[in-house]
Amino acid sequence: MKAEIIAVGTELLLGQVVNTNATFLSEELADLGIEVYYHTVVGDNPSRLKKLLTEAQKRSDLVVLCGGLGPTDDDLTKDTVAEHINHSLIQDEQALAKLHEFFTFSKNKMTENNLRQTLMIDGGIGIQNPTGLAVGTLITESRTTYLLLPGPPNELKPMFQQNARPLLKQLFPQKEQLISRVLRFYGIGESQLVTDLKELIDTQTNPTIAPYAKPNEVTLRLTAKTADNELGQQLLNGIETQVLEKVGEFFYGYGDENSLVKVTVDQLKESGKTVSAAESLTAGLFQSTLGDVSGVSEVFKGGFVTYSAETKEQFLGIDHELLEKAGVVSEACAIAMAEQARKLANTDFAVSFTGVAGPDELEGQPVGTVWIGLAEKGKPAFAVLCHFNRDRSYIRQSAVMKGLDMIRRAINKKK
Ligand code: ATP
Repeated sequence: MKAEIIAVGTELLLGQVVNTNATFLSEELADLGIEVYYHTVVGDNPSRLKKLLTEAQKRSDLVVLCGGLGPTDDDLTKDTVAEHINHSLIQDEQALAKLHEFFTFSKNKMTENNLRQTLMIDGGIGIQNPTGLAVGTLITESRTTYLLLPGPPNELKPMFQQNARPLLKQLFPQKEQLISRVLRFYGIGESQLVTDLKELIDTQTNPTIAPYAKPNEVTLRLTAKTADNELGQQLLNGIETQVLEKVGEFFYGYGDENSLVKVTVDQLKESGKTVSAAESLTAGLFQSTLGDVSGVSEVFKGGFVTYSAETKEQFLGIDHELLEKAGVVSEACAIAMAEQARKLANTDFAVSFTGVAGPDELEGQPVGTVWIGLAEKGKPAFAVLCHFNRDRSYIRQSAVMKGLDMIRRAINKKK
């Protein structure tokens, strides 16, 4: 059972749009136990698409196409696939009724080309679109099945999940399916992680272990191929234990939705602790990052942006002499900022950031030098010195991640 995905759209080739549909569809198909062998992108060009369909028909049992189902003349996917398999296009009655309803309700004038969106390939099954007007088609011809979906992800996703997925499950019942688990790590680079896990990665066939480096973190996708979901979970548990024995110190959470900030906020909530911050080079980025997590108000009280030496004195009450003697980019300043923020906001934790985001040096310290302080109620505050390389934005982002990790580790120490 081999599948492939063809994304149609010149905007993808020009780099104006990222092909996120292919990522989504690959994950969904893997979940159905259908292996994807090729991803292709082709422009809005019928003759090149036709050539590609001829290739795809030879090598794949299932060809999923996305894009080009719209009302305009360059939306030619349906026409091209229909021609390729020698079928005609017909009106899908359900989609047509929806189109009329839409224009009656919105009081807009319907143009003739809107009707194109309600065409499907004759002999196939119409795939209804809960969030748009273009209908899709699922059709099998000469042992190859074609699934046509629209380009906009907010239409493609519900169409696939609600309407196409159950049909594919029936059409391609799989004995085995792929079950995945994503482990997230902070504080270790991809090359070190792979080195530490080399033996496991080299010897493991089921589950497989795939590392992926993102800015400031690494993920490991563990994938088991199995006919039995429970057995699959056991296989994943086994390999996860072995992975964590080696690099568990850096592990912080599971899955795409559990970012470092989300995990940190969850842990603050679980432990009933509050946090504030005093930010110099990050200029509020840490607090803004916390603000991205819904429900953060339970743990985040507020904080300070003290970019200049004056505001460090004015807002936080930091001693003028300390700033003169130690400098703003210093351990003493980071500690004082964290302590003062914690006291003034009356929180359990406070993090501080002071450093050199660049492009110029500050106080003779090179770009990327950052002190991050952590104050915790009832404990002496401390600060760590970091050296982040790359550009300004990366340095500030890296500082925020490190600050989050310091809180997370402080909470976990107590557990
Ligand atoms: P429409 O009715 O919007 O024209 P369509 O099915 O014809 O729908 P396209 O015109 O190919 O779709 O694409 C519409 C928009 O959908 C694109 O501008 C882009 O924003 C998004 N899109 C298209 N293909 C992809 C893709 N592979 N991944 C992510 N987004 C995509």
